[in-house]
Formats: sequence, C-alpha cells, structure tokens
Amino acid sequence: MDSVGDTLQRLRETFSAGRTRPAEFRATQLEGLGRFLRDNKQLLQEALARDLRKGTQLDRAFIRKEPFGLVLIIVPWNYPLNLTLVPLVGALAAGNCVVLKPSEISKNMEQVLAEVLPRYLDQSCFAMVLGGPEETGQLLEHRFDYIFFTGSPRVGRIVMTAAAKHLTPVTLELGGKNPCYVDDNCDPETVANRVAFFRYFNTGQTCVAPDYVLCSPEMQERLLPALQSTIARFFGEDPRSSPNLGRIINDKHFQRLQGLLGCGRVAIGGQSDQSDRYIAPTVLVDVQETEPVMQEEIFGPILPIVNVRSLDEAIDFINRREKPLALYAFSKSSEVVKQVLARTSSGGFCGNDGFMHVSLASLPFGGVGASGMGRYHGKFSFDTFSHHRACLLRSQGMEKVYSIRYPPYTPRNLRM
Ligand code: NAD
Repeated sequence: MDSVGDTLQRLRETFSAGRTRPAEFRATQLEGLGRFLRDNKQLLQEALARDLRKGTQLDRAFIRKEPFGLVLIIVPWNYPLNLTLVPLVGALAAGNCVVLKPSEISKNMEQVLAEVLPRYLDQSCFAMVLGGPEETGQLLEHRFDYIFFTGSPRVGRIVMTAAAKHLTPVTLELGGKNPCYVDDNCDPETVANRVAFFRYFNTGQTCVAPDYVLCSPEMQERLLPALQSTIARFFGEDPRSSPNLGRIINDKHFQRLQGLLGCGRVAIGGQSDQSDRYIAPTVLVDVQETEPVMQEEIFGPILPIVNVRSLDEAIDFINRREKPLALYAFSKSSEVVKQVLARTSSGGFCGNDGFMHVSLASLPFGGVGASGMGRYHGKFSFDTFSHHRACLLRSQGMEKVYSIRYPPYTPRNLRM
C-alpha cells in the first residue's frame, strides 16, 4: 500500500501533467461513475435504505440567500476608499450588519471615513473600529458570522487562524507576485505602453499590478528602449516633477523598496529620495530568482525582467511559485496566450493587457491558493455575503408513500 505522502504525490503529478483537463478524460471518469451506480445498484440501495430515502417530486426545493449576520470587513491602505465601499455594498445589500476596520496606514482616509461615513448609514447596522494590528487582533477575538479581509498573505493567515476558533467563514483577498509573460511575437511599443501603465499605476501599489516580466533576452533588448520612451512619455524626463506619479505610502515601505533597487542591475530609473518618498519608475535586469525582488511582492514602481528561453520555461517558472492573484500573457499569437492560460493557475487572467479583468462587474474577483480565497464584485459580492440555504418544503400528505423509508426494513421496501 502507498503511504499517504506517495498517494498525494501521485495525484499531484497527474494534475500537473494536465491529465485531468481534457474534456474526454473528464467524460470518461463521469461515465465510470455512471457504471459504478448501474453495476452496484443492489449493493448501494441496501446501504442507502439504512440511511435516508428521497421522494421529492411534489416538494418545493429552492435556495434561500440569507445574510450571514454580523460581518467584519478589514481594509488595506492602497485603495482605501474602493476597498472599503465595494465589499460594504455587498455586505449591506445582502442584509448583514457590518463592523468596518479601515487601514490605519492611509490615515487621512481613515479619519474622513470615521467622521463622515456613519452619517450616511443606519447606526443600528453599522459600526467602525479604528486602529492597527493590536486593535484588529482584539477585534478578531470576537465572534463574527463572516470575515472579509483584504491585505497581505501574512496577515491573512492571522485572520484565518482567528476565524477558525469560531469556525467563521472567510474571504481572503490577498496579494503576491503577478507574472507577466512577454512572447517574442509581440510589438514591443504596445507591450511597453500596457505593462508600464499597469505597473506604475498608483506608483505600483496595486495588488493586481504586473509584478515582473518573463521574456527572452532577445525580447528584453527590444523591450528596454520601448519602456524607456514610454516612461519618458508618461512621466517626462524628470518623473519626480510629474503630476502623474504618486509617492510611496510611508517610510517603512520606502526603505523596503529602496532596498529592492539593489537587486540585479538598474536599466531604467533607479533614483530615489527619502525626503518625499520618491522612487522613479524603474526597470531592473539581470535579476536572479533568489534575490529579494523576486521573493516578495514588490508593491512599488519597480519592474524586474527575468529571462527565460522558451514558453515552457516561463510556464515552469510560474508553476514553481505560489499561485498569483493575476497573470498576464502578451503575444500576437492567440495560441500562446491560450497555452499560458491553460497550463497555469491564478486568481484572474488577462491576455495582452493589464488588470482590465478586475474592472468588469460581470467577472468575479479573487485569488487562489496563496493569493486568497473567495470572490466578489457585482453580483458575486451579494452571493459572497449571503448564506446559500438549501431548503425543501413538503406537505403532510402522501404519508403512505413516504412510510416506505421507515424501519423496520424488509425485502419489500428494500426493493423500492
Ligand atoms: P496588511 O495585511 O498589512 O493590512 C491589512 C489590514 O490588516 C489593515 O487594516 C491592518 O490594520 C490589519 N492588520 C495589519 N497587521 C495586522 C495584524 N498583525 N493582526 C491583525 N490585523 C492586522 O496589508 P496592507 O499593507 O494594508 O496592504 C497591502 C497588501 O494587501 C498587499 O499584499 C496587497 O497585495 C494586498 N491587497 C490585496 C488586494 C486584493 O483585492 N486581493 C487589494 C489590495 C491590497
């Protein structure tokens, strides 16, 4: 007999090899299940007869979406208004009471929200708790019926551990490193415009920003001059004086990012100034996978380029790491884009652009694996904040028919 470890390894290898994905394979497995039911009907009926039997034709079966009850929403600093309002809309629309914990780091927004927002909501269903890690830790000791957390994977673990004590369900909207594959079959100017726009948007402080580029050394040679001219066009020759480039949220993050500028070799930008937390839009090359800039989420205006020799190597690189929140693939060949999509996993995906998929209310937004769990936006927000209660209503009639399920079991009711 295999050990559990061997068994899990065997199943993971099957999954990684893509065996379970073709429709034909899945159909074969489902046909197998059908045969299992047919071949073992008698055996299964005898087992089922000792449990519960169904007779639902005259019943009314439906899903009732009900509010969970008391919901806690915890917000990060990088989009402090959007990431407050979008979950709040879902929670209130579904009929919950809400405790909102804004980020203490975006302190101006925290203050405005604390002063103004309560005036617009019924105080009997809404409250705010202010503070940082300590206050949030104390809050998490209480029992909630649902917790919706947006923030880092590190704090996500703290939140999930606290939720587990009360078996409280959670949505975790986390971050990570979002790969951006650039195929050789690309127009470098178009790629440079799109990658730079989404990388440097909000000064790189976006959870779904392309975090690093994977491309061949040849593509890198074509991409660098295109990125140079795009950055100059977007932010001028002196990006520091550009009204279109923001600043890093605080000194701690500035120092962290300044440290990352020492990885690889600066190809574009690289300047920084602590006095107003300025970091120039930067591109790094000759970056090693083991360097800090490739280990942690960058969350700033720095774009490392990592060289790969082929599409397969890029896909291996992506699959060796935690599943990202978003994944981007650029190629004029739709086949290449489809291959990246089919052979990887991520919260969301966009071919030939940045995080446009996040702006569509018709698409769910959320992570997978280390980038989070659960989804929201549009109707998905309402569903996330609702318990889907499975209901069946039956009349008191037809008791004779239903009595077949009651013991004592005899050959007659086992045959039914
Ligand atoms: P963070 O995890 O440090 O903080 C998020 C919230 O948790 C804040 O309200 C903070 O007060 C609270 N918190 C911090 N430390 C805590 C602790 N020890 N115990 C309990 N609560 C604590 O995240 P951040 O720095 O505010 O935001 C950046 C992170 O958020 C990045 O990783 C980014 O990718 C992620 N993010 C994800 C999304 C998404 O939708 N998936 C959106 C924006 C940001």
